[in-house]
Amino acid sequence: MSTLTNIKDLDQEALTAFLGQHGFPSFRYQQIMDWLYQKWCADFKAMSNLPKDLQELLVGHFRASSLQVENTQQAEDGTIKWLCRLADGETIETVLIPAPERSTVCISTQVGCAVRCAFCASGKQGLVRNLSRSEIVDQVLLACRCQNKKITNVVVMGMGEPMHNLENLLPALELLSAPGVFGLGARHITVSTSGVVAGIRALADCGRAWNLAISLHATSDEQRSRIIPPQYRCPIADILSACEYFRKRTNRMPTLEYALLAGINDRAEDATQLAHLARQFHAKVNLIPCNDGTARYQAPTPAHCRQFLELLLRFGTQATLRLRKGGSIQAACGQLRQQNQPPAQGSHSPS
Ligand code: SAH
Ligand code: SF4
Repeated sequence: MSTLTNIKDLDQEALTAFLGQHGFPSFRYQQIMDWLYQKWCADFKAMSNLPKDLQELLVGHFRASSLQVENTQQAEDGTIKWLCRLADGETIETVLIPAPERSTVCISTQVGCAVRCAFCASGKQGLVRNLSRSEIVDQVLLACRCQNKKITNVVVMGMGEPMHNLENLLPALELLSAPGVFGLGARHITVSTSGVVAGIRALADCGRAWNLAISLHATSDEQRSRIIPPQYRCPIADILSACEYFRKRTNRMPTLEYALLAGINDRAEDATQLAHLARQFHAKVNLIPCNDGTARYQAPTPAHCRQFLELLLRFGTQATLRLRKGGSIQAACGQLRQQNQPPAQGSHSPS
């Protein structure tokens, strides 16, 4: 792939100035934006209402997309997972979850992840690099192009810790939210974090009604310390006060994500504690049975997962047990990339 700048990394001022320098009127800017964000076009030569010389100028100076699909896997339930190659040769994963009334794309924000949760494939090799804003946005446009339909929901739950790349994630989310650009309502965007307190506060300060999901996975700091290494783990009490701040600023309640890990966080007393925390957070709970288990981290049996859910519901907690989407295609975060990588050197390994 070429090393040209992705056109989506230029802001309005820069692109309009570029057009002006080459003798093109500023209305061409909006035409280009429509092709990129409304028609999900990744080929300047297909932008048929642009004059040929402008198409060629753009081809010579910019890339229209940063992603090259390297591998596509589709599960029986329709979930599609792409392994995408970036311009520098790194790879990321993007997942499309289509449904009759809605379609959700799950996007990555980093190559790898520095947090290194013990059960997660994305963290195994640590952080390689942050994605640029165009690499983040291009995943959403790829999903639209593939299904020839605008996606209805974006979840920032792919590879990486979003709060460690707010510098590029926030401009990407602004592009996706802006009415004149992609135009996706804030309530259709969810950002998931392992609980990076400074990031939750920064997201709150944007004042957008984006949804926040907290990957809690445990009900005490001691229990959390067994699955999340210390370097980037924040205390639950601090996460709670950051969520309160988020609620004050945005009027949005967070969701608590809870990966069910057999023998680690799936006892009846864990459900009791979780219900208590959910009340404090004013949050609903998403239970995710651990997928792609290793010897050490396995999902409880389906019956046990349902029992855990029942307990939460009995305590009055709003909770769901997330259906396995795309289990047959390794759709958990980071798994496909891991299959295509050589073994990690000195990495944090759960097995
Ligand atoms: N880094 C962010 C967002 C990406 S991970 C975060 O941790 O929130 C998205 C979700 O998938 C998180 O809740 C994460 O803990 C969960 N996850 C990762 N690996 C998993 C696995 N093997 N089984 C179940 N859930 C997993
Ligand atoms: Fe990073 Fe999230 Fe995976 Fe933890 S679960 S290693 S924070 S991507």
